[in-house]
This record gives sequence, structure tokens and C-alpha cells, in this order.
Amino acid sequence: MVANNLQATPTPNKLFDLKYKKFFEIVDTLDRLPLNQLQKMADKKGYHITILKKDGNRFLIYDPQVKIGWIRCSHLGQYMYCARRLWLQQQYGLWLTKQNLKAMYRGWLSHIIWQEKYGVGASELELVDYLLGIYGHLDAFYLKNKNYIVVELKSSWYFKPWHRLQVLAYLYLVERNFDVKSLIGHLIYRKGLIEIKPNNQLFSKYLLRIRKLFYEDQPPPVLPKKYRSRCKNCAYKFWCKKYPQGDWDKWLLPLRPTKCQLCDYRKFCLKFYFEQGMFPCESDQKSLIQNYLRKSGIWSVV
Ligand code: SF4
Repeated sequence: MVANNLQATPTPNKLFDLKYKKFFEIVDTLDRLPLNQLQKMADKKGYHITILKKDGNRFLIYDPQVKIGWIRCSHLGQYMYCARRLWLQQQYGLWLTKQNLKAMYRGWLSHIIWQEKYGVGASELELVDYLLGIYGHLDAFYLKNKNYIVVELKSSWYFKPWHRLQVLAYLYLVERNFDVKSLIGHLIYRKGLIEIKPNNQLFSKYLLRIRKLFYEDQPPPVLPKKYRSRCKNCAYKFWCKKYPQGDWDKWLLPLRPTKCQLCDYRKFCLKFYFEQGMFPCESDQKSLIQNYLRKSGIWSVV
């Protein structure tokens, strides 16, 4: 299955072989271990996360893999998951709940153990692009039937659109570093594999948004209501509530094309999109007026 848009269902196929199934067995074994045991295991393997501060159920940590001032490929995924959380992370440091911390250790250990036993091609390869100031670590990278394959292992069951963005960043880095053309990403889930084709246009669009986010002194808006279940286990809730809720139309306006900046619908364009699934300029006039104004509560005035 190729994820050309942001929706796709992972399907097992002939490429989804035993070595990937082994990865999930490792994840499940680690999942049953308590936090202190995971910490000891990671320590022995040379991964030293420093806990700088503890505040209730939250931990402020120092991750040695983080390069200050750089964009990490995983930031693209984090931006799509909750851009506000990514901004708060830049301001207040890397805070994790106990559950997040456990997931971080489990993630790192499962990848390392898998790479040691079943990894293919180059594993944990760090790629850097100095021009854009972006870096990332590939889970695996190999050549098969004249195609270069970039592997990203995820412990979840189903496809998540933000994972695709992260893989697009890896594909860009491979293209830049090795000058290879025939390139494909394999996003591996418990349910199977999804192929990701390079899309530098989409990658650049989100890279620009992250650059903006890093320089802003106010956070991007809170998640739309339908995605707020993500807030449940967020270590930044305390700070999130202290800032204004924000407005995506206002936040993204400077990055949008001139025609959007001059458009009469610009003040509710994205809100409309989240609610209706299409942009105002794509909707016919009748449904645009009926749907939007009714929801705004001003239908009776018109
Ligand atoms: S509480 Fe929710 S909206 Fe706020 S930063 Fe966390 S995940 Fe994002």
C-alpha cells in the first residue's frame, strides 16, 4: 500500500517478513518491564538519558541524541501530532510523563536490540543536511532490486499521518547525502507495511512551518476539539493552559500564498476546512454560506 495522501491502511505483503515480526516481539517483551529495569538496560547499552528534574509525575530530561538548534526528522511528525507541544518543548525543555519516558526507553531499546539481531543494511545511520540544518537516524537502509529502501519501524498497529512526514524527511536526507534517485520508504506497523514515495514539496512545506515555530514567541493554537484525546498524556498541559488558545488562520497566514492572504475567507479558512473537509474556495457558494454561517450562529441574521 502506498500512502500518497495522509490516509492509508497497512497491509502485510511479501516484504513484511520475519525480521519485522521479531521487532514487535521485542517491543512486547520490553513493554512488560518496569521503568527502572528499562533504564538499567539502556545504560548498559550506552544510552544515558539524564533526568534533570522531577515534578510530580513529570520528568525534565536531557537526551544526548538531541542537537541544539537543529531540526530533527521526528520534529516533522511531532509538529503534525501537536505543534503547540513542540513549541512548548523548545521553551521549557524536554518534559515527559512517566508513560512517555517508558515509551522512550522502550522505543530506543527495541530498535537497538532489533538492529543487533535482525537489522538489514546500515542501521542507526545518522544523516545530516547542513544547508537546511536537519538531521535524523535511519532504523535501516539497504539496496534491493536497484531500489534504495529506508525503513522506519513503529510499534503501533495502524498508519498515522505524522509518521509519513517523518519518513519524507529521511527520504530527503538520503537523496541529498547519497544522490540516489530510486528511493522508497518502508513504514512498518504491526499490521503490515506502507510504502512512502519521496515528496519534497510536502516535506518543505512542513519544514518551513517548523522554522517559523522555532522563532515565534507565542505558541501555535491548541489542537482542534476532535484531536484533544492527545492531551490526556501530555506533560505540557500546565503551560498549554497559560497561553491564548490561538487561531490557525492567523498563525499560518504569513506562510500562505498571496492569493490566500488577500482572500475574504482568510479569517476562517482553516476552521472551515477542519469542519467541512474542504477549503472555502473549493466549496460552492451555497453550501459555503449555509454550512458556515449556520455553525457560526449568525444564519438568522443573513
Ligand atoms: S495539552 Fe494538548 S494542545 Fe496542549 S500542548 Fe499538550 S497535546 Fe497540545
